[in-house]
Amino acid sequence: MHDRRRTLVSSADFPAFVYDLEDLDTHIREVRSALGDIELYYAVKANPDPELLRVLVRYVDGLEVASGGEVAHVRDLFPNARIAFGGPGKTDSELALAPTVYRLHVESPNEIRRLIAAGSDADILLRVNLDIPIPGASLAMGGGATPFGMDPAGVAECLDLLTGHESLRLRGIHAHLASGLGAEQMLDVASAVLDYARSLGMTEINIGGGMAVDYSDPSRRFDWKTYGAGLAALRRPGETIRIEPGRSLTVYCGRYVTQVIDVKRVHGELFAIVAGGTHHIRTPATKGHDQPMMIGQPGEPVTIVGQLCTPKDTLARRVPIALEVGDTVEFLMAGAYAWNISHHDFLMHPKPAFRYVNKDL
Ligand SMILES: *Cc1c(COP(=O)(O)O)cnc(C)c1O
Repeated sequence: MHDRRRTLVSSADFPAFVYDLEDLDTHIREVRSALGDIELYYAVKANPDPELLRVLVRYVDGLEVASGGEVAHVRDLFPNARIAFGGPGKTDSELALAPTVYRLHVESPNEIRRLIAAGSDADILLRVNLDIPIPGASLAMGGGATPFGMDPAGVAECLDLLTGHESLRLRGIHAHLASGLGAEQMLDVASAVLDYARSLGMTEINIGGGMAVDYSDPSRRFDWKTYGAGLAALRRPGETIRIEPGRSLTVYCGRYVTQVIDVKRVHGELFAIVAGGTHHIRTPATKGHDQPMMIGQPGEPVTIVGQLCTPKDTLARRVPIALEVGDTVEFLMAGAYAWNISHHDFLMHPKPAFRYVNKDL
């Protein structure tokens, strides 16, 4: 398998993002089948690459987007896709897209006031930030004071504002409280969100994304079977439960492949400098982890850095592998929040190539 992949990308392309569309297809199919009746949306901001989206839309019920730019991107590719549009700080022109999307996730009472003032027509979910403990989260969007969504008092204010405005159809509740949680913890959060939604008489509940991704072990994946079965057990007749994961769907299908330009020892520590760096794959810098790699010959621990003039341009620290100038280096788990969150123009190095393996499934 490893060799097959190698032959499909030439070193002239390095640095390159290589996406294995068959890997993605297999993974999303497993996720879909674990979820049964639970609606699955993909959070486009994790990776909006059209080739990946084309695979994903065969399995998902819709796409979750977080800007007018993402709405346009998705509409352009898939005119009939169901879109859920959320995100804090929507501009007037973004709110004006409300009638064109399947669901608008409202983040504040002022958004309701602006929709009313504009005479808008929309199907909305109110995004709630519940004050519940979220132990072990890698990023918390809820469970305390954050700019995401509203506390229950804000939701109550929205409910008052909506009275008498029939063209703003309240469909339910949205919550995306944390990321980095395992299946059991995600189910605890889901249960709290469902209780809250039921207390308001709501039957459509989007419980967000944030399923854990473990960069220290690419083989340890979120337990979709437990999660799917747990959600099925929580769901009551007549309820629509929706989730919107991003990272956990696309992260595994992408690799960032590059080549060693220089190797040197500085004050005793061994460094390998590769073509490209965190201006292509900012994930290790932003998450503070070592990007997992395909491990070759064992060797003296080497710190792998990119071409930028900053110590933050570190891809992986003290990896025990033998590296020489010209060697190929393959970083794994580069399919989400990698290229599209990176500061491409810093230092004006060339852009990476994008290669798609197993494109014609
Ligand atoms: C980013 C985001 C997601 C996806 O989160 P992942 O950690 O990539 O699964 C889902 N919903 C909302 C509202 C988000 O902001």
